[in-house]
Amino acid sequence: MGAVQDIDYGIDAWGHDLVTVLPDGNVGLRDPLAPGSPPVALPMIVEDLRARGIGTPIQLRVQSFLDYGLNRLCDAFDATMAEVGYKGAYRGVFPIKVNQQHEVVSRIVEVGRARGYGLEAGSKPELIVALAQPLAEESLIICNGTKDDEFIRLAILSRKLGFRTVIVLESLNEFEIVRRVAEELDTKPLLGVRVKLTQSVGGKWEASSGDRSIFGLGTYELVQLIDRLEDSGLMDCLVLQHSHLGSQVPNVIDVRRTATEACRFFTELRRLGAPLTYMDLGGGLGIDYTGEKRPTENSVNYSVEEYCFAVVETVAHAMDDAGEAHPTIVTESGRFVVALSSMLIFDVLDATLYDVPDKPVARDGDHHLLTDMMAIESYLDGNRVQECFNDAVYYRDELRALFRRGVLDLRQMGRAERTFLYTLSRISEVERAQEGASELRDQLENYVDYYHCNFSMFQSLPDVWAIDQIHPVIPLQRLNEAPTRRAVLTDITCDSDGKIKRFVLGDGMHKALPVHDLRDGEDYLIGVFFVGAYQETLGDLHNLFGDANVVTIALDGEGGFTVEHEVEGDSIAEVLSYVEYDPQDCLAAFRKRVDQAVAKRDVTSQERRTLISAYKDSLSGYTYFE
Ligand SMILES: *Cc1c(COP(=O)(O)O)cnc(C)c1O
Repeated sequence: MGAVQDIDYGIDAWGHDLVTVLPDGNVGLRDPLAPGSPPVALPMIVEDLRARGIGTPIQLRVQSFLDYGLNRLCDAFDATMAEVGYKGAYRGVFPIKVNQQHEVVSRIVEVGRARGYGLEAGSKPELIVALAQPLAEESLIICNGTKDDEFIRLAILSRKLGFRTVIVLESLNEFEIVRRVAEELDTKPLLGVRVKLTQSVGGKWEASSGDRSIFGLGTYELVQLIDRLEDSGLMDCLVLQHSHLGSQVPNVIDVRRTATEACRFFTELRRLGAPLTYMDLGGGLGIDYTGEKRPTENSVNYSVEEYCFAVVETVAHAMDDAGEAHPTIVTESGRFVVALSSMLIFDVLDATLYDVPDKPVARDGDHHLLTDMMAIESYLDGNRVQECFNDAVYYRDELRALFRRGVLDLRQMGRAERTFLYTLSRISEVERAQEGASELRDQLENYVDYYHCNFSMFQSLPDVWAIDQIHPVIPLQRLNEAPTRRAVLTDITCDSDGKIKRFVLGDGMHKALPVHDLRDGEDYLIGVFFVGAYQETLGDLHNLFGDANVVTIALDGEGGFTVEHEVEGDSIAEVLSYVEYDPQDCLAAFRKRVDQAVAKRDVTSQERRTLISAYKDSLSGYTYFE
């Protein structure tokens, strides 16, 4: 071993200046709000949290990363508007669905107050959350999604409390409910309309855009809506035009194209008499998860500043050309604001190693195919790696066929499989020393180690499972040591889908993560970065693994940190009650079983106590490996 070169994990490219490697090989976090301050070592944070009784897996939120996301967006809009001479304002809203956690929403509201930042609600429960927040007077609450009477009633009534709640009409039908409820309440609503743009945007969420999008009104319906607004005397209520085109828009050109079309609708609707003042361009501002800076599914070819420039300049020109006043620009950026703010940290529990260092020894009576396989090493060199690989696979398959037919016994077959892995390890070593990527490297990556990790993909990284989302993943320590292994990370669910098997490194995407040998009695921590958007509540209870511990820290600007907030992950009893078991009933049933065994003298009273307390301790314990 040891023939592996230094690895570039690509942190400089994807780290957003928030993640860095310290001289002692630990991964550190930088405080974006105190740029010169010493970074804080992540393994030290984990150690400290453990001492407080908070074990891995931990979802770690960093307050300044969240503040930074929000302020950076507002600053970028303000700066661009000043530069372009824009005569309107920017009013962002945070879409609650992107991270509904109380702590996160409260922090966004708190930090956003000074900037008139508001909230977007896509459902009744989200509106309920929004109406409980101390928003600034000029902040918006934008109501999207399908709405019933109750939703609309609450939205209209909230106007009386001074909330700027805008009901975005998603259909003509919804308008009829609004008309009826507004009349009943004798209160005028603030209305918006979601327009269906014909331009589509690329990326994973392409289907949310274009004329087959399931949301919004097309041109024909828009005209009908205008007529109905006029008929009902509600025309003066239509203040906002909305268009959301999906998340993580990869290409900034799409932002310009769609903003241009949105402006056409906007000026036309104004001409038809709608007193629009807000132009809401929805979400879509993406995060560069891979550091590629290209318009791929997990990267973007623009910065937040370029995004703002594309939006502001397009709107300014379109309005100037049409002789219209500049509207207040609204965006519903969720991912951009929260994605960077949290990371998932877990420990490696065990490994299944495919890399076999020990040379197998030939024995009398070995099958000649096994001897042939052992001989591969004698002609292995840089020019013949592919040939050696082909030979190894061929001999192994032939030997397996012999085993199935009863020619080889289990011991012989065990040695054959071991020899195969040994040969592959030598081939990999020679191959890695070669320049550039090859077809063979790709094949060899199918034989990497498995590192078994203490987390559930389904609970904590649902998008990695469901839509192949890429998050940067790296070991959090020993980065001053060359990693000697390559591994796929498996979770602790009993599901073969529970693996992280795509990794971004400095030179692009790989099927395995370079990792170090595990050492006895020493922790090996892995961090998955930028999981603040969408991951927390989309997760599920596969195998009854519950929520991980969540901790919010603030970096203190001097290389230390303080714990601001902590939410213990689900206990087993909690998770059981989610699926309708009563933990007390379970305990009673178990106790009965123990007492029966005591009666039959299979169990002593001392054992009775041990059995019952083991069961009880588990009930109140963490669902993950402790
Ligand atoms: C999900 C959603 C958003 C958030 O999009 P991001 O890409 O996360 O910024 C904004 N608006 C609406 C209507 C949404 O459904």
